[in-house]
Amino acid sequence: MSVPFQSAAIIGAGLMGRLMAVTLAQAGCKVALYEAGSPEAEGAAARVAAAMLAPLAESAVAPVSVVRMGHYGLSRWPELLAPLAKPVFFQREGTLVLWHRQDAAEAARLERVLAHTGTQVPELAPMQTLAGADIAALEPSLGQRFAKGLFLPGEGQLDNRALLASLLATLQASANVTLHWQSPHVPEDFSPGAPGQPDWVIDCRGLGARPQWRALRGVRGEVIRVHAPEVALQRPTRLVHPRYPLYIAPKPDHLFVIGATEIESDDMSPASVRSTLELLSAAYAVHSGFAEARIVEIATQCRPTLPDNLPAIRQPQARVLQINGLYRHGFMIAPALLDTAMELLVHGRSALAQGFGMATTTSDDA
Ligand SMILES: Cc1cc2nc3c(=O)[nH]c(=O)nc-3n(C[C@H](O)[C@H](O)[C@H](O)COP(=O)(O)OP(=O)(O)OC[C@H]3O[C@@H](n4cnc5c(N)ncnc54)[C@H](O)[C@@H]3O)c2cc1C
Repeated sequence: MSVPFQSAAIIGAGLMGRLMAVTLAQAGCKVALYEAGSPEAEGAAARVAAAMLAPLAESAVAPVSVVRMGHYGLSRWPELLAPLAKPVFFQREGTLVLWHRQDAAEAARLERVLAHTGTQVPELAPMQTLAGADIAALEPSLGQRFAKGLFLPGEGQLDNRALLASLLATLQASANVTLHWQSPHVPEDFSPGAPGQPDWVIDCRGLGARPQWRALRGVRGEVIRVHAPEVALQRPTRLVHPRYPLYIAPKPDHLFVIGATEIESDDMSPASVRSTLELLSAAYAVHSGFAEARIVEIATQCRPTLPDNLPAIRQPQARVLQINGLYRHGFMIAPALLDTAMELLVHGRSALAQGFGMATTTSDDA
């Protein structure tokens, strides 16, 4: 795709900023990317995320529009990854959902919600109910520890840190891109369209945009990374839990991300003892091999979230596009947001946004 303008300034080099920068540079646009932190993305929610791509599983807490965006992303990610400078772990081995006997009522409620989602979004692969032997066949190392479960075929995941690194390497290799680290900016720093200024400003600051986008809030999440050579899980495993959905997401080299708490607070302080105990106990209850795992990292970040928990793309003024509110689904819905933003930049309107039911406001009252 080519774009009908020559240059863009992108603010924020987290998930959305890097994706927008690579896509615009591939389209022949001169891109200047400004990031408050370093190339390591230490201030980005994207660095901490588990990066599961699980639209049906997420429908337990997400509306149909987000599920549709997530379904779109599953087939779009391989196309986005293919031209990048380095390979990125991506798989679609499905999601396994398990529960302990005491959470059976909550599991039954979840099953009803997922079945209803299946009728609303029939293009999703149908959920399968599993008996103990089916679980053991899918994940032999779990044996017959669980009597029942659900399998959501075709759901995916990717390696978030490998993706950030690969997007970075792609940007570094592009003659169209200049990278500015330790360089915090706001859209008002630019006069897009004026002589010597970029044609467009694209604001991808996540929670950093809060001073100008007052409705944004942080939703705290704590995750633990462990190295567990004794554990072999092929796919993300979710454990039904009365307070928040817990998961174990396998990454390459026997690394596992165990997460994530969900707390209505923009508190970025270190993980609490309670959360750490809950997450580690849940992992140990799923697979006793986690007993000898080594804790590599305990991290906290806040998800950039709007009041309706939905993403939004807005144009507060001409030639300024803001993409935000990716909440807990950023990786899952990023391809949908990227393609919608590109349609808006090229055509001034987006058929995709209409199909997803996504807000693309032009006022600054969101
Ligand atoms: C614990 C946790 C688990 C998650 N798990 C998943 C998951 O399994 N699946 C999934 O799909 N999503 C998940 N997410 C959500 C996902 O990480 C976010 O939705 C996504 O990262 C948001 O992308 P973003 O680009 O808008 O913001 P970010 O990734 O946060 O990037 C924003 C960037 O802007 C920079 N910035 C801020 N202010 C300025 C400024 N003034 N100037 C320049 N730069 C600035 C920041 O430093 C940062 O690098 C999870 C999130 C968390 C916290």
